[in-house]
Amino acid sequence: MNVIIVDRNRHESLLADHRKDPYTNEIISVGDRIVVCANCKTVYLESSWKIKNRCFINSKICEVSDTLPYLPNEKIITKLSRDKNHNTKKNYRLAIIFAALFVIALILAIYYSAKLQQVKNDRFADIESVWQRHNIVNENGLEGMEIYVQFNVSGMLDKQGTVVARFYDDNKNKLIASNNSELQYKTIDNHLSVAEKFTSPYGTTRYDTFVLFMPNNNFDKIFRTPKQGKVNLKFDVGIVDDREKLIAFSEYHSFYYSW
Ligand SMILES: [Zn+2]
Repeated sequence: MNVIIVDRNRHESLLADHRKDPYTNEIISVGDRIVVCANCKTVYLESSWKIKNRCFINSKICEVSDTLPYLPNEKIITKLSRDKNHNTKKNYRLAIIFAALFVIALILAIYYSAKLQQVKNDRFADIESVWQRHNIVNENGLEGMEIYVQFNVSGMLDKQGTVVARFYDDNKNKLIASNNSELQYKTIDNHLSVAEKFTSPYGTTRYDTFVLFMPNNNFDKIFRTPKQGKVNLKFDVGIVDDREKLIAFSEYHSFYYSW
């Protein structure tokens, strides 16, 4: 025979029901010794059960002497609520783990994309020297200026790059090309410029005298008036890699244009 001592916490719902002993009609309360029929689950006070040492209230269907070592409802409710609690904690812990994993994945993604970016950007150029000559007539009979660039380029084996000279006024504002200027003398944002392509034959290639020729008529189209005049101008030189990324640029170089 299993005797259960009624506990304020564990048997809360039994107490809330004001369950009565089926024999004495006494309300079962905290500290009472009770016995539960294993078949019909009727709850007896121990003293009542002991009268016959079997279930005798539902005599037609029951009359068993087996007893339960626990209150079935209580046990299940307690277990359920503990499970629920446990699951909530478990879910909370899982959420934290997933959040942490997500943050780690994010950091790794940022790190590797930055690293990939570095790999992508391992094209280097170094402009060592820039100088200029004026009043040059080229093979097509055009008068203009020559810009000489001495530079190194790395990481562009067999790749095509561009050397570009971009023109500015004396205050370093971009010179906007005339509408009449040929496309080869302006960038996509109409910055007056001249560019030549190169293909690097080595992993690192040194160009001692790379030449850009800028015909004077490009300046004529912007500045020329019937009266004589003179304007102070500047240019800088840039090295653009095979993906149109500017990987080096020079300081400003001054010159004047007169007509
Ligand atoms: Zn019974």
